[in-house]
Amino acid sequence: MSGGKDSTATALLAIELHGREGCRFVFADTGNEHEATYEYALGYLPQTLGVEINVVRASFDDEFATKRANLARIAAGEPESAVYGARQFQYAWTQEAAARALELLQPTGNPYLDMCMLKGGFPSRKRQYCTEYLKRNPITEYQLGLIDDGYAVESWQGVRADESASRRWLPSYEHRGGFYSVYRPILRWGVEDVFEAHAAAGIRPNPLYRQGMSRVGCMPCINAAKAELREIARRFPQHIERISEWERLVSAVCRPRSPVSFFHLGTQGHSGTSSTVWHVVEWSKTTRGGRQYDLLADAASATACASEYGLCE
Ligand code: SF4
Repeated sequence: MSGGKDSTATALLAIELHGREGCRFVFADTGNEHEATYEYALGYLPQTLGVEINVVRASFDDEFATKRANLARIAAGEPESAVYGARQFQYAWTQEAAARALELLQPTGNPYLDMCMLKGGFPSRKRQYCTEYLKRNPITEYQLGLIDDGYAVESWQGVRADESASRRWLPSYEHRGGFYSVYRPILRWGVEDVFEAHAAAGIRPNPLYRQGMSRVGCMPCINAAKAELREIARRFPQHIERISEWERLVSAVCRPRSPVSFFHLGTQGHSGTSSTVWHVVEWSKTTRGGRQYDLLADAASATACASEYGLCE
């Protein structure tokens, strides 16, 4: 369960076919979700559907211990090559920077932020490790736990073929061996079928769909489209503030002068690699390749419904 429309429709089908007792529901908390999604996925849905939703979170405690030990050696004067071997890095640690980073490099308990502090930067389109670290791995661990307990697991995934070219050729059923298989029950559904399933079950969709968001996931997602980012900054500036704070913190614990930016190389058409989230938000308000401000961008009230799926109708 992500709190999005597709996983909710999938859950409705699962309950219909197998009953509440035959299903387990899992929410992978990235630590970068909108409060409306937490409320919806962990409050409204379990209450309305009468199910329990298990929450899994990635933990990086072991990696923090290793990174702290490495930095302590550099801060004590050991050369980087003695710590990391012959690998070449574009930006080098200094003794002082390593000592400063050590003061701040502690697990925060927020999976997304912890992952970025350890990686020394944010994920990007080309290095989209966030899905693997924050969602796939913790959910796989949960499933393996069930198999160890003697269950056979059929993993129901709410993906749809018309979402992207790479999903078009996915099979709807895969037996992966042992006691594990994957089922994608809504693979051939259109977006209107998904909302119809909500309506038929009397379940309201995540309210973010009525607020200009085409997909519900991280707030923001590194893959947010230009217009969506503009909408996020306009409606939820507190989340841009939070990302800006994360950029400052991640910069403070990574190699000196290395560019740290939430959207670096991440937003289509944006070529700056060292620009902060505020630069990218400014760019999101522009038209004509970033040269001109879109004068109508702020004209509609931020409380108006801007659903891409016509939910107001
Ligand atoms: S929603 Fe976006 S930022 Fe969040 S884990 Fe998925 S790809 Fe990464």
